[in-house]
Amino acid sequence: MAHNYDPTNIFARILRGEIPAKTILETAHTLVFRDITPQAPDHVLVIPKGAYASFDHFGSEASEAEIVDFYRTAAKICEMLGASLATGGLGYRAITNAGDQGGQEVPHYHLHIVAGCPLGRMLEKR
Ligand code: 5GP
Repeated sequence: MAHNYDPTNIFARILRGEIPAKTILETAHTLVFRDITPQAPDHVLVIPKGAYASFDHFGSEASEAEIVDFYRTAAKICEMLGASLATGGLGYRAITNAGDQGGQEVPHYHLHIVAGCPLGRMLEKR
C-alpha cells in the first residue's frame, strides 16, 4: 500500500500561510513552531515542508537533503531550548505518533520536542 497524504490537514495549512503559527526556526526543508496546547514549559513541533504523513512515510520517501535538514534542525532546536545535553541542558523527549493506534491527530509528519520539566516515564501502562 502506498502512503497517502491529505493536503487539507492543519500543518499543511500552516505551511501554506493560511493559518498562523509561532515559528521558531525555518530552513529550506523544515519548519519549527510552538505547539498550540503545550504539555510542558517547552513543546515545539518540527515538521518537514514536504507532503509526508508519518515518520515512516518521511523515512522511506524523503530525499537525503530533506532528512538531513530535518534532523539537523531538530538538534539545533534542542540546543536553542537549552535542553541539549551537549550544552549543559537537562534533556528533553522527542515523540512522533503515527496513525490511529499511535494517537496521531494531525496527518503531517511531526516530531514533538518536549522539555523544561521532569517528564516521567515514556508511556503509561495500558
Ligand atoms: P499528534 O497527536 O498528531 O502527534 O500531535 C498533534 C499536535 O498538534 C498536538 O500536540 C496539538 O496540540 C497540535 N496542534 C493541533 N492543531 C494545531 C495548530 O493549529 N497549531 C499548532 N501550533 N499546533 C496544533
